[in-house]
Amino acid sequence: MSDTQLMDGLGRRIDYLRMSVTDRCDFRCVYCMAEDMTFLPRQQVLSLEEMQRLVALFVAQGVKKIRLTGGEPLVRRGIVELCSAISALPGLRELVMTTNGSQLVKFARPLAEAGVKRLNISLDSLDPVRFKTITRTGELQQVLDGIDAACTAGFERIKLNVVVMKGRNLDEVPGLLDYAVSRGLDITFIEEMPLGDVGRSRGETFCSSEEVRDLISQRYRLMDSAENSGGPARYVRVEGHPETRIGFISPHSNNFCATCNRVRMTAEGRLLLCLGQENSMDLRALVRRHPTTDAPLLEALRKSLMGKPAHHDFTVDGDVQIVRFMNATGG
Ligand code: SAM
Ligand code: SF4
Repeated sequence: MSDTQLMDGLGRRIDYLRMSVTDRCDFRCVYCMAEDMTFLPRQQVLSLEEMQRLVALFVAQGVKKIRLTGGEPLVRRGIVELCSAISALPGLRELVMTTNGSQLVKFARPLAEAGVKRLNISLDSLDPVRFKTITRTGELQQVLDGIDAACTAGFERIKLNVVVMKGRNLDEVPGLLDYAVSRGLDITFIEEMPLGDVGRSRGETFCSSEEVRDLISQRYRLMDSAENSGGPARYVRVEGHPETRIGFISPHSNNFCATCNRVRMTAEGRLLLCLGQENSMDLRALVRRHPTTDAPLLEALRKSLMGKPAHHDFTVDGDVQIVRFMNATGG
């Protein structure tokens, strides 16, 4: 193993960075944000140049995969140029993005041309009224058109992300799966995580991956799969539909921390060592204090990784355990 490879204190190799390029978003999804959000003042958000510098540092230290997320990454001005700069970094294996899809009609092709290899697109409902209720501001048709645009733009894979909630979209799971299967897309069903006070008790709508799987099994024959994307999802395949993989992200019932290979960076340059813990390090302060030399950043980075927690502590009905919202986290 190269001596530049980032390692944490438990011997886990860190080769995946998820970076939030903005905390802002054109949606206000009920599981992610409160209705009335205050966003970061612009000067507190890293500039694109600062982001580029930090990503280059991570990649030089053996990080192989970068996911750009947010907030909504496509509302950040200059996002395509940032993608081009990152995808050109020597040593990077793949640049990928998570988006709500609202602007993909405009951005799908430029993103693919800028070197983004795969997209995760959030889609929680196929009913326009429900979609609006869940996202509070979103237009379903715009997202569906965006998915169509992405399907022809040249990405290696596209995956749909569904946060499943009882009383809101659990009954749509089979329809969403049909939609994914008919287009040969992957789909991941996610258990809602308790990040930020979204103004309601999450326990009421919580739905386990077990229940989702049972529901799907009534319609499709599922085959367990040993596939692993290096992430927290467990995968199954659908008999007769080899194109589609179904993933389940179950932070409550499936503890995936032992093999965690990732860290997150918020839009203000806080390095989060664990999604479900508050430990963080202020990279922005270092970047601004040392505009031309990377050595102090690297030293601080290596030191802080030694404190990466062994695991998260989510519980199903514990509600808010983490005060930061998902949009500020870089989910
Ligand atoms: N705006 C983009 C989007 O929605 O895809 C990217 C950012 S969003 C925070 C990333 C992913 O986190 C989305 O798939 C969203 O559904 C998921 N997410 C947000 N809040 C969540 C929560 N409390 N629990 C589980 N997943 C959540
Ligand atoms: Fe925006 Fe994504 Fe959060 Fe929804 S999940 S509010 S689209 S950042």
